[in-house]
Amino acid sequence: MFSKHRFIIVHYLSRHNRRCSTVVTATTATTTVGSTSLQATTTSPNKTVLLHKPSSRYNTLRYNYRAFSSSPSSSSSSFSSGEITPSPPPPPPSPLPITSFTEDEIMIQEAVRSWSKQVLNPIKVRQMDNESKICPIVLKDLFTQGFMGIEIDPEKYDGGSGLSFTSSCIIIEELARMDPSIAILVDIHNTCIINAIRCWGSKQLKKQFLSKLATTSVSSFCLSESESGSDAFSLKTTAIQSKKSKAEKSKSNDNESYHYIINGTKMWISNAKDASTLLVFANVAPSLGYKGITAFVLDKKNGTITIGIPEKKLGLKASSTCTIHFENVKIPSSQILGEIGFGYKYCIEILNEGRIGIAAQQLGIAKACLYDIALPYMKERKQFNTSISEFQGMEHQYAQIATEIHAVELMTYNACRRKEHGMPFIKEASMVKLYSAQIAEKTASKTIEWLGGIGYTQDVLAEKFYRDCKVGSIYEGTTNIELQTIAKLLRSE
Ligand SMILES: Cc1cc2nc3c(=O)[nH]c(=O)nc-3n(C[C@H](O)[C@H](O)[C@H](O)COP(=O)(O)OP(=O)(O)OC[C@H]3O[C@@H](n4cnc5c(N)ncnc54)[C@H](O)[C@@H]3O)c2cc1C
Repeated sequence: MFSKHRFIIVHYLSRHNRRCSTVVTATTATTTVGSTSLQATTTSPNKTVLLHKPSSRYNTLRYNYRAFSSSPSSSSSSFSSGEITPSPPPPPPSPLPITSFTEDEIMIQEAVRSWSKQVLNPIKVRQMDNESKICPIVLKDLFTQGFMGIEIDPEKYDGGSGLSFTSSCIIIEELARMDPSIAILVDIHNTCIINAIRCWGSKQLKKQFLSKLATTSVSSFCLSESESGSDAFSLKTTAIQSKKSKAEKSKSNDNESYHYIINGTKMWISNAKDASTLLVFANVAPSLGYKGITAFVLDKKNGTITIGIPEKKLGLKASSTCTIHFENVKIPSSQILGEIGFGYKYCIEILNEGRIGIAAQQLGIAKACLYDIALPYMKERKQFNTSISEFQGMEHQYAQIATEIHAVELMTYNACRRKEHGMPFIKEASMVKLYSAQIAEKTASKTIEWLGGIGYTQDVLAEKFYRDCKVGSIYEGTTNIELQTIAKLLRSE
């Protein structure tokens, strides 16, 4: 059963001889970085897959238009007078709707949907929520299916699926439609950690971590602390450079005389219990303020790292959220991500992209509530000898919400495509993160009301989605922080 889904992804990969290259152009904290371009591959005259370059897409449409206009039935040339009247030039092709996925993206969507139903079924989801932990079989299967290395190039690193950023969001949305806890694990792992290493990691760091992350190692993004939340760069964790002792030098694999010693406590760290790789933000020169913030990639078993007891949360219970304490953890400089003092820039860029992933999670929650729970129930449930879905008071409510969910979908995939095409997307990402959280919460709340008494019980997942979505307006930028970002960008336009 599992291998069938994995087969789909492997088949997909072998069909398309892809090349993945990462372009890093940003120098300022708010500039788009890391647009990924995949080589277009034509598999048949009328079919092109994963076209991320506008020009290639344009050519495909033009090709199709020509094929159509040169067919006998559509030819406008006149032969009756012996003169050939030239056909009018074809109109310029218009862009496809934002939600038109490529054939391969649709295939991925169907594969995840089917896996979710079979492996992550509502009974398993309820069980994981009650036990506040992710079932090890599910966790292992996330790797087997290729969901843990979505954008990693399989030609360079074992286990990578070589898909696009849009595919990541499709996968996150589909997983959230069954379990938002699994979706957040996959989201943070792919959009926050793997993509940061792909973008800014040295060759050695990529070699050391990317295959591992795609095949066995869950990761955590360690930024927040007890006193630094929205004001993230007031973090107190330090990474002070220090000379190695003779014994340390003889034991280490590198020739370096210095290493960094990390001390501090991170809070609210998702995946912490399951993770073995950590992306940690620490200050190498506290006197420089945020300009000393540096990112390190480390193995959890690499020193004295203590994981706290998971927080008892309102929702996302299967996803562990813990404090992580670092005490004199010695890290070689080879494990610095990118450049010293650039951590705050990387962090901003990671979160800009991450917000689209959170929006995909919130979209999945909203769709699950309306389309998988509320509408089927409302159609079947009768009161006053009438299906409750036919009462106008109900119709107006679910029609309104369906419209709002559609807007979230358009905004989410518009932000994805903008990112993929290297266009500015920060405002769009903040807008959709903000709006998706509002609509997911509204939809989950309404779903409980539409189901009446049963919606308030654990017999259906509506109450769980209601609990799970609330954090959408808190993590990776609270509602106020998103509004602040949008306003700032509006002022600068
Ligand atoms: C379930 C969960 C998982 C998380 N996972 C991670 C993780 O994996 N890694 C990680 O690093 N962090 C994680 N976080 C932390 C999360 O990112 C922070 O909680 C979030 O950034 C808010 O910070 P805070 O909780 O300190 O709230 P605060 O920053 O104290 O905010 C409290 C309130 O004040 C408002 N506020 C703050 N500043 C302003 C301002 N300038 N203008 C207007 N209003 C303002 C906020 O909008 C909010 O309403 C997680 C949190 C949760 C709940």
